Amino acid sequence: MNIAVLGGAGYIGSHAVKLLAERGHRVTAVDNLVNGHRAAVDAASRLVVLDAGDTAGLTAVLKAEKIEAVMHFAASAYVGESVRNPRLYYRNNVANTVRVLDAMHLAGVSRLVFSSTCATYGEPGKVPITEEAPQHPISPYGRSKHMVEQMLLDTARAENLAFAAPRYFNVAGAALDGTLGEDHRPETHLIPIALQTALGQHEQVDIYGADYPTPDGTCVRDYIHVWDLVEAHLVLLENLQPGRGLFYNLGVGRGYSVREIIDACHRVTGRNIPTRLVARRPGDPPVLYAAPERMFKDFGWKARITELDSIIASAWRWLRNHPRGYQ
Ligand code: UDP
Repeated sequence: MNIAVLGGAGYIGSHAVKLLAERGHRVTAVDNLVNGHRAAVDAASRLVVLDAGDTAGLTAVLKAEKIEAVMHFAASAYVGESVRNPRLYYRNNVANTVRVLDAMHLAGVSRLVFSSTCATYGEPGKVPITEEAPQHPISPYGRSKHMVEQMLLDTARAENLAFAAPRYFNVAGAALDGTLGEDHRPETHLIPIALQTALGQHEQVDIYGADYPTPDGTCVRDYIHVWDLVEAHLVLLENLQPGRGLFYNLGVGRGYSVREIIDACHRVTGRNIPTRLVARRPGDPPVLYAAPERMFKDFGWKARITELDSIIASAWRWLRNHPRGYQ
């Protein structure tokens, strides 16, 4: 297929570009390079430097490249930042997705895979979280993604859009061949910060709260390897149905606390990782982990790189070989 990957130079988008190209698809990566990296786009694919919210520009690209499906990863994705700057999130995640839908409509493209998130569930009443769990997001980030899910459902009903909105848990790790990895500026995610600390790039890792109702008091999350995550996108793309939305949790189905993650980073690197206990970060629910079975039941898909140490080892390999990221 001819596939456009919006946000194709970002962390998850670049892994999607690589996977799709390896599986024989013709990929056009679209990225404004505000957070993305030119060097992250697989050499087999084309990069168009364009903002996903530029409807006219995107329409032209979709038409020129005869695009048949869109994967939309271009978004702002930090819970804490969304609390401080909600307009950024409603603009980048909601308003720009309307513009992407406009461009797809104008270019006659009706297949979409959209990055959604477990943050749409808010503070779940019970774990593991199934796809039927009520969605009451507690951060502007989670609300922005939930709004888009609703928007996509309405559009699917009205215009026969075929879409999937996989809900990601915590995405981690790096391409197993060492060519791609995580390079956020600034980095806010736990695993890369812990590994950068192991490398001596930070003095310590801040632990955001140890008074949560969890076994060791720190937040529990479900970490899924980025390669597994993008493989699931391809499975969803292959199973889209006109007029319908597919909602699936993408996680491993196991939760690890912040302290367990830091311990695992210590184990994998063999290096000291000092920590400092600080206040809670607004918008963080105590425990999030997926019931991932629906993907397996419907499509026979499940995550393969499920050992926490293997996930961290892939991120560590990337960081050791690229201590300055893509620079
Ligand atoms: N976290 C932390 N210190 C950090 C970064 C994150 O204690 O420097 C915690 C954060 O509060 C959350 C978990 O680690 O409970 C995962 O956070 P991350 O930002 O990696 O992903 P998110 O859950 O926000 O998608």
